[in-house]
Amino acid sequence: MSTTATDMKTAEHLRLNDQYGAHNYHPLPVVIESGEGAWVHDVEGNKYLDMLAAYSALNFGYSHERLITAATKQLNKVTLTSRAFHNDQIGPWCKDLCDLSGFDAALPMNSGAEACETAIKMARKWGYEKKGVADNKAEIIMAKGNFHGRTTTIISFSTDEQYRQGFGPYTPGFPLVPFGDAAAFEAAITENTVAVVVEPIQAENGIIVPPDGYLKQLREICTKHNVLFIVDEVQTGLCRTGYHFAWQHEGEDARPDAMCLGKALGGGIVPISAVVSRREVMDVFRPGDHGSTFGGNPLCCAVSRVAMDMIKNDGLAERATELGEHFRNKLKAVGAPAVQEIRGRGLLIGVQIKSNYPKARWFCEKFMEAGILCKDAHEDVIRFAPPLVIEQSEIDWAMERIAPALLSAEPNA
Ligand SMILES: *Cc1c(COP(=O)(O)O)cnc(C)c1O
Repeated sequence: MSTTATDMKTAEHLRLNDQYGAHNYHPLPVVIESGEGAWVHDVEGNKYLDMLAAYSALNFGYSHERLITAATKQLNKVTLTSRAFHNDQIGPWCKDLCDLSGFDAALPMNSGAEACETAIKMARKWGYEKKGVADNKAEIIMAKGNFHGRTTTIISFSTDEQYRQGFGPYTPGFPLVPFGDAAAFEAAITENTVAVVVEPIQAENGIIVPPDGYLKQLREICTKHNVLFIVDEVQTGLCRTGYHFAWQHEGEDARPDAMCLGKALGGGIVPISAVVSRREVMDVFRPGDHGSTFGGNPLCCAVSRVAMDMIKNDGLAERATELGEHFRNKLKAVGAPAVQEIRGRGLLIGVQIKSNYPKARWFCEKFMEAGILCKDAHEDVIRFAPPLVIEQSEIDWAMERIAPALLSAEPNA
């Protein structure tokens, strides 16, 4: 799409990043300068349809008027107080989040990883204080293939070698069991088990959907053994999969004891994350036990409150269900020989590429040339997760470009 002359701009940005930035990412070579709805513009004047939505942080798309208005209004009032004082946004934000999620108490942090760290600390302390686990013995069972962020503790229980290699020593206390296997989880429970933490769909691991009833089974097992059931909804939550929270696919019987949220919680404008839980669990935190300078700041809370209002009232879950089905059907109808499987829920869609075809990244580069931005999840899965405000006509526009790119792939010699 770009010409050689204008490529200079992109090239200069790539050079600056390369020369002065850390090299901890491998982004597609597109430099975005503005966005609106589901579309972004790059520094060359090219337009792309965003089908990644910042890993679901941009569920409401770019430059949403209500969010911009709320952010601007709060910017002009007060943005940060620290938690040494109260501010007039955090109380209403906690109430709104409890109303939305059906939990009793909320604790704000900044990133998804911090929300997961918070849930881990909460579960450990609950284990010592309420369950009577011996000091420093608490175990939290994790699923293989998990992704909960990149802190030293979180990468300690990753099964992705690249996330771990070179970053030890690792935090102990996290036995691993296969994802989707409730019996394996129950078998791993000991007197020291305080919690299990799972993603309702393993998004980073390639949009892996567990068998029906898995979360409900985990709920039952946790209740039986007095273990906390904690769900990481950082990516799957807030309408992405067709419900407010992905565990709701299995109904109220699957309700966890606590949930981690992030990404879309900040409306794509501010970083804000949260743990929500039952009151008796949250109350293991007492003043001084945990915190964050920017956590619960009034700017983030004000924007997040509008985001939550849109989650409640804008029909985004229904959109995700309907458009997701439409998108998946269209992808299936292509019948591309390179495709092994098309899976997902709502607008969280994974296209698994057969092992004898080019890597998923190759397809993402093809899509980019055709004006569509998306990202591989693992090496062999193309992830489609457009903003939930995308129109059906925009998905159809994208499919006219995705189909020929999928069909153009040749098997490796
Ligand atoms: C993205 C993600 C995280 C980490 O969130 P950050 O804001 O990047 O720290 C945690 N859990 C899940 C399921 C995620 O998708």
